[in-house]
Amino acid sequence: MIELTGLTPEETEKLILDLSEPKYRAAQVYAWVQKGRDITEMHNLPRSLRAKLEETACAQAVLIERELVSSLDGTRKFLFRLRDGNCIEGVLMQYEYGYTLCVSTQVGCRMGCRFCASTLDGCVRNLSAGEILGEVVAVQRLLEEKNARIRNVVLMGSGEPFDNYDAVVRFLRLANDERGQNISLRHISLSTCGLVPEMLRFADEGLPVTLSISLHAPNDRIRRQIMPISQRYSVREVLDAAKVYLQKTGRRVIFEYALIRGVNAGCEHAEELAALLRGMQCHVNVIPLNAVPERHLEGVSEAEVTAFLKTLEKNHISATRRREMGDDIEGACGQLRKKTMREEQADANRF
Ligand code: SAH
Repeated sequence: MIELTGLTPEETEKLILDLSEPKYRAAQVYAWVQKGRDITEMHNLPRSLRAKLEETACAQAVLIERELVSSLDGTRKFLFRLRDGNCIEGVLMQYEYGYTLCVSTQVGCRMGCRFCASTLDGCVRNLSAGEILGEVVAVQRLLEEKNARIRNVVLMGSGEPFDNYDAVVRFLRLANDERGQNISLRHISLSTCGLVPEMLRFADEGLPVTLSISLHAPNDRIRRQIMPISQRYSVREVLDAAKVYLQKTGRRVIFEYALIRGVNAGCEHAEELAALLRGMQCHVNVIPLNAVPERHLEGVSEAEVTAFLKTLEKNHISATRRREMGDDIEGACGQLRKKTMREEQADANRF
């Protein structure tokens, strides 16, 4: 089955010509697909073309199966069902400047970060570019009713984007196409746990997205306790790759740092982090840890977050606290999928 959300306008045209249909039909099909419509909803196509398309292609790669709305801040969490039965998550956040959608890039993840729910059962499979775009298209269809648009996309859902490099790069180009979703690359952030060769390769793609790096530790000793990937790449190598990205794209990088009690959250760690980043054009996003029941790691108090930020500021490191959104709806990575899987498992056991 060809995923229509994964095709460029040119590729859609080729498909239509291959089906011996007139070229102008391609623009119609592409427009419907980008509006989140299924083949049966493509009203301006002849029935015969719709029938031919249904035999070879699927219009929407993902379906919204569940939607949870936070009563705290209106954040919406989506559970998307894929055509093979797997499910993934997305989160829609509303900020003063518009909507931001957080998308997944893999079913699960194989990076094994100790604090993360997405990686608990490993990586089931990569998402295709059409599936990643499908998340955007499905949510955009909902927003259309409100005359609203997704302005920002963050690749911060389940999965390690650079562990699915080709599909992610293809997704970025598809999402940016002005004939389709037309999302500015400058409004897209990609978050990585620091796969150094892919960071360097990405710097040469000519895609000016914001690179966020999950650092979470000021040195290798601590990073190795919580992020298995740091056995492969040292903090120094990750920072050097970040500098190359900065030099080549002119985009300042963001470091993500989740505060974990007794591990990385002390003022001495903030001092060490500041020394590490001194002189670099960057910003630190301090994230209070979202505790995951399966992980036995604790977050920190409000006072500890503030103290950590103050220490960075005192050392002239630009830093903010990331707002927690959707705390009441399993907002953190992988939590809703995990919960749904637990429920499905419980259902299966019952019968
Ligand atoms: N694989 C990518 C994207 C994953 S998630 C990466 O590692 O960057 C986006 C961010 O959420 C990452 O910084 C990740 O480390 C962080 N994160 C994961 N689990 C978390 C938790 N329980 N609490 C706070 N942040 C978490």
